Amino acid sequence: MESVSNNGASRLAKDDRAKQLLKKLEEGIEHLTTTEGYEDWLRSQALFHNYSWGNSLIIAAEQLQRGVPPEHVAGFHKWHEFDRRVRAGGKAIWILGPVTRKVVETDEETGEKVISHPLVGWKSVPVFTLSDTDGKPLPESPCHLLVGESNQAAQAAVVALIEREGYSFAISPATALGGANGVTTKETREVKVRDDISPLMTCKTSLHELAHIKLGHLDQLGTSEPICRGEAELQAESVAFCAMAALGLDSGDYSFGYLVHWQGGGDEAVKALKANAAKIAGVSNLVISELEAAGQEAHLQALQGAWEAASDQERALANRNLQPRLEAHKKAGIELDGYQLAELRAQSLLTLQVRSQERQEDDRAVRQMSQVAHVSAPAQAH
Ligand SMILES: [Zn+2]
Repeated sequence: MESVSNNGASRLAKDDRAKQLLKKLEEGIEHLTTTEGYEDWLRSQALFHNYSWGNSLIIAAEQLQRGVPPEHVAGFHKWHEFDRRVRAGGKAIWILGPVTRKVVETDEETGEKVISHPLVGWKSVPVFTLSDTDGKPLPESPCHLLVGESNQAAQAAVVALIEREGYSFAISPATALGGANGVTTKETREVKVRDDISPLMTCKTSLHELAHIKLGHLDQLGTSEPICRGEAELQAESVAFCAMAALGLDSGDYSFGYLVHWQGGGDEAVKALKANAAKIAGVSNLVISELEAAGQEAHLQALQGAWEAASDQERALANRNLQPRLEAHKKAGIELDGYQLAELRAQSLLTLQVRSQERQEDDRAVRQMSQVAHVSAPAQAH
């Protein structure tokens, strides 16, 4: 395993790796912006209003209660801009909208008229959810839920890292997560990932939630200077993309579109990536190293399990066979750490077990051949 020797050279290679992966992320976003349908989708995104945090909660709660997925909402007339109409009987969701007043003042120095619209109150405003409208389909999002397998060892390592941060991990009903793929709650120290996505998407989402924790986003919640949501999502998804790539898993189909969505365009996403590159690379390197260490630990446990499962006789023989190699290492001045020793010992045991199995198979084959010889011998006599 590459990370057995933590010398300077391999450290350097790891730092380079995060930078290379970030480059891949940038290229993916740039490519996405040239695909068919991208411009339509981006235009439609710009038309949808970004609701305040409080209004977003009202909308999400109402959609959850009605059993509709988290989807776009817009005012009655706004839907016309998307060539859609609110269906007869469509039920409004009431959110709070600002009430402003037009004030015209004269600048004393220049004598020019200055118009402003100060906030004077709030009123209830009706909006309608996509399911209550008919018309032209909305442009398809370039952010696709990943399909496919992950690998169990990778998922186990990600969960181990989440637990090491003091958070529990659970796969939860999608309906309980309000449409999010994953949710991390600071107060209860829980990470939940929805139960209706592929193993590959589960692994990516788990890494995204781990990244939010590692990046300190949860600690910033409720402080006077919380990170803006778009920047937080950019950082978390970029770290998840890099870590997935290091695990040999590709999350581009989801990550590229996700970053573009949160940044409001490909150019903006690439610019924000460059501005956040140092932080993303730093945390990505950390997560990748920890994933490798967790993988190594799991491997070591498996080796130890095999060693303990062997008989006393096998262990003694494996140790004896190993002696010449250990002495050769000693002579060459190579010091082995506990991990390398365990690996050599397990290898020696495995060689022994394979040889013994081969011997048994040979014996069986010889016995079968001699039986055939006995049977055919009388026939030959004729
Ligand atoms: Zn997130």
